[in-house]
Amino acid sequence: MSAQVIDGKAFAAKVRDQVSEHVKLLKVEHGIVPGLAVVLVGEDPASQVYVRSKGKQTIEVGMHSEEHKLDIATSEADLLSIISRLNSDPAINGILVQLPLPKHLNEDLVINSIDPAKDVDGFHISNVGLLGTGQRSMVPCTPLGCLMMLREHFGSLSGKDAVIIGRSNIVGKPMAQLLLGDSCTVTVAHSKTKNLKQVVSHADVVVAAVGRAEMVPGDWIKPGAVVIDVGINRIPAPEKGEGKTKLVGDVDYDSCSKVAGAITPVPGGVGPMTIACLLANTLTATCRANGLTEPEGLTV
Ligand code: NAD
Repeated sequence: MSAQVIDGKAFAAKVRDQVSEHVKLLKVEHGIVPGLAVVLVGEDPASQVYVRSKGKQTIEVGMHSEEHKLDIATSEADLLSIISRLNSDPAINGILVQLPLPKHLNEDLVINSIDPAKDVDGFHISNVGLLGTGQRSMVPCTPLGCLMMLREHFGSLSGKDAVIIGRSNIVGKPMAQLLLGDSCTVTVAHSKTKNLKQVVSHADVVVAAVGRAEMVPGDWIKPGAVVIDVGINRIPAPEKGEGKTKLVGDVDYDSCSKVAGAITPVPGGVGPMTIACLLANTLTATCRANGLTEPEGLTV
């Protein structure tokens, strides 16, 4: 049996189209243009690529995009003052501070200085608490994208056994909250989990968010399970030529796709959904800020 491939790229294009349609309506009916500000401190090459891509897609869906590129030596006070300015700027509905921040900046302090209503990454402690108590919140983009793909696949997730590998604040924990919210029985595995193979082998849904190339082999997967691979790992690819590299996920795609019922590829799975959900969150934040109805299906 060969798993159905969950095409995150196509799904993300659908989400962007939906966002773009709604942005047009907002403009025509209310004269509102949603605005997203991305703040990048330093010159981390991976972060620069993400920020460029976010800016480009924000403009493509008809939103206002701002990039604030700050020197690596930017002080905490200066960064907080920029965030404060964005918090009170009516043209800005979403603020994203690209992580990781340089070591001299307190990430928690910086994230918690963002107005929770504009916190389109969903990392502010208020949004974390709201999500954890099943209340309306801004939902972190990557787990939101995973949930959208799972809902589309299953219809209802109620009663499914879900195993999430990884307990980070940005993926594993919010993913657990979202799956609990959809009535899954959720297990969160992590670096200290004993007998991970046995834990994973009971799951109807496996979400791998570890950051270890191809660590989940096919013989851990229950036949027919749905595998969502969040991991993005760059590894050497000598088969492509000397010094070449390629991206792989946290699951061994070749062996897992022979056993799973459905699987997300890397690249082209969770990754594209993350930015699409950032745009969806910016739209959601704009609708809420203006007391307008939120579009269906773009948040929980
Ligand atoms: P993280 O480093 O913050 O967390 C990794 C988690 O994996 C930890 O909770 C740790 O306990 C667990 N872990 C480590 N070794 C383990 C092991 N041997 N067995 C079981 N658990 C183990 O990582 P993160 O930020 O959650 O990201 C995870 C991966 O997802 C990375 O590859 C990252 O690049 C990727 N990612 C992708 C997207 C996307 O848009 N596709 C977004 C965020 C993160």
